[in-house]
Amino acid sequence: MLLIRCPWCGPRPESDFSYGGEAHIARPVQPETLDDAAWGDYLFFRTNPKGLHREQWCHTAGCRRWFNAERDTVTYAIARTYKPGETP
Ligand SMILES: [Zn+2]
Repeated sequence: MLLIRCPWCGPRPESDFSYGGEAHIARPVQPETLDDAAWGDYLFFRTNPKGLHREQWCHTAGCRRWFNAERDTVTYAIARTYKPGETP
């Protein structure tokens, strides 16, 4: 079983966590200026890298806090986890 390190609780089994999608997606500064294509891009299109990927995770069966992780999409190895607001 994969162990994921919650920044607050420490290592826990992957079944404790929920995946939350790609991390560090900036909200549009002036959303009223976006056309439909730009909104669609913001809402639905994500990167799909082969290799290191920054993601959001939630410790749903523990402290219920959100955090970020750097995970290799090929090996599933999580290089590190960090709290929201921290620089990766
Ligand atoms: Zn936790």
